Amino acid sequence: MKIEDLERMKNEGPESLPSEERRKFLKMGLVVTGVFAGGSVLSLTSARNVYGALEGIKLKKYPYKPHYSMVIRQDRCIDCELCKEACVKTNNVPEYGYRTTILEREIPIGPDEFQREFMPVLCNHCNQPPCVRVCPTKATYKDKKTGIVMMEYKKCIGCKTCMAACPYNARYFNEEKRAIDKCNFCFDTRLSKGEKLTACAAACPADVRIFGDLSDPESRVYKLVHEPERVVWVLRPETGALPNVYYTKG
Ligand code: SF4
Ligand code: SF4
Ligand code: SF4
Repeated sequence: MKIEDLERMKNEGPESLPSEERRKFLKMGLVVTGVFAGGSVLSLTSARNVYGALEGIKLKKYPYKPHYSMVIRQDRCIDCELCKEACVKTNNVPEYGYRTTILEREIPIGPDEFQREFMPVLCNHCNQPPCVRVCPTKATYKDKKTGIVMMEYKKCIGCKTCMAACPYNARYFNEEKRAIDKCNFCFDTRLSKGEKLTACAAACPADVRIFGDLSDPESRVYKLVHEPERVVWVLRPETGALPNVYYTKG
């Protein structure tokens, strides 16, 4: 898939919501931006400027412990797809599905010259996940302890409403499970067994995917997101979903 395709995809962003719902969404967005240092402001400016802009708003603690998050150092990705392979093996992802993939685009750098850029994508474990809000059976939910957006396969009736609501195309229908499947930060396969890293982060030879606890000031993810001059952004901030997957360069 190309980045342009992701950008063009229809989604349930604030623009498609009824006005009252939309106001609620935007209000939450504003509040949550203050709480999480995530969301649209980060797409435009560095973390320090975000705090500057939010002066006067009381910053609360990260609500989950651990507050799992991933920072993707995008320009380091060499498209080797070892992350994808590790994810498939670890989480038994069928050939037709995916929990993570690498998007690519060509950036013009001269009259006939292009530079290819790669962008790993996965579920963003959004702080305000549209998928969770629309699920009629609560088969998908935000874990109260870790903030991971989980699936309870038994409860899924396969209506695919969550697939349509996800602005990031992060879900697929698993024929064998007869349920929707998606990235769960390797919770069942690794984190719950004491592993500190997800399979994709552990497999990446270029140290692109940094995984950890955003509520721990000593963690790599915390340090990267809060580094004063570093520009950090999230994908499609206008949806108000407030991702927990951040992008940066360098
Ligand atoms: S990226 Fe999509 S599937 Fe993941 S939490 Fe956000 S809305 Fe849900
Ligand atoms: S965190 Fe785990 S489930 Fe998610 S994309 Fe990476 S390897 Fe796959
Ligand atoms: S393993 Fe790392 S470098 Fe290779 S495709 Fe995945 S993110 Fe990119």
